[in-house]
Amino acid sequence: MLVDPHGRTFKYLRLSLNNSCNFRCSYCLPNGYKNGMIESKNLDLNEIKNLALAFSHLGVEKIRLTGGEPTLREDLVKIIETLKKIQGIKQVTLSTNGFRLKSLTKHLIDAGLDGINISIDSLDRANFQRITKRDFLPSILSGIDSILETKTLKVKVNAVLLRDLNDAEISDFINYVQDKDLSVRFIELMQTKDNQDYFQKHHLSSKFLKDYLSLNGWYPIPRLNLAGPAQEYGHHHSLGRIGIIAPFDQNFCGGCNRLRVNAQGALRLCLFGDGNFDLRPFLQSEFQLSELSSRIKELLNIKPLEHRLIHNDPGSLTSFSSIGG
Ligand code: SAM
Ligand code: SF4
Repeated sequence: MLVDPHGRTFKYLRLSLNNSCNFRCSYCLPNGYKNGMIESKNLDLNEIKNLALAFSHLGVEKIRLTGGEPTLREDLVKIIETLKKIQGIKQVTLSTNGFRLKSLTKHLIDAGLDGINISIDSLDRANFQRITKRDFLPSILSGIDSILETKTLKVKVNAVLLRDLNDAEISDFINYVQDKDLSVRFIELMQTKDNQDYFQKHHLSSKFLKDYLSLNGWYPIPRLNLAGPAQEYGHHHSLGRIGIIAPFDQNFCGGCNRLRVNAQGALRLCLFGDGNFDLRPFLQSEFQLSELSSRIKELLNIKPLEHRLIHNDPGSLTSFSSIGG
């Protein structure tokens, strides 16, 4: 079991597969991904397998694949198949901007994927394009419909809550989930080293959304064991759910149950921490598993108690695309 000195248990790993992305979300990569910007060689399938074996030995049961944009990796399906074969890994899920949903869905399902998070910051085509610089909304929405028809994958939609950009669309999202078995989760915008001015301009506390939901008959749903940080809400007249991810909430870090590894194999103990710890030298062979496990356990001893976002300090994080959120 992975337990840190603050008594928190870690059964959930977020593994980034690349730093690159084809979108230019205004809060994340406004100038786009520039080749060679941060990237050295991404972990290969064998290194990913060794990493997952060690984490599963240490009690990790869920792995979320993220990026950059993980669907840009040609070996994504093979990676999912490999992870699904590892004893102890109960869930493999994916975060994506959704641009390849149509061509990939069948392969993802056949590979055994358990759930998919798709980022959609606006349900209005022009506004979606304004925020992401890409005109893919219609194909992403129809991709989601096709997934829902299969009734095999758990679907979540993530929307970053942005003052003056999408805060007038809350009721559109509520209408959207009404007849769909999915959850739309609003993520409060977080600052990084690269988006400080943008943060000042577009950050909106999620409290107003929380108040809006309770005033309009939405009730909180209890959190499951391997769940992420969202507080989800249900409504008697809605099939779908609304969630809120509120990183500035007092109890946010106390409930932390995840660790992160970047695309080059470095452990990041806290999203807003000060550094990455290279595990790659221990990922080269299955015979290094016990060394790797000891290193991970040792590093867990210095996991910080909490982030310092309320003091406007995002640590060394430049952009979420470098670690996957
Ligand atoms: N490209 C994929 C996607 O967009 O879903 C996966 C990687 S992306 C970095 C993961 C999540 O982080 C997305 O839901 C994105 O909206 C969110 N994100 C990125 N930058 C953020 C920020 N500054 N504050 C809050 N959420 C952010
Ligand atoms: Fe790309 Fe995801 Fe960042 Fe948007 S949020 S730029 S899709 S990595």
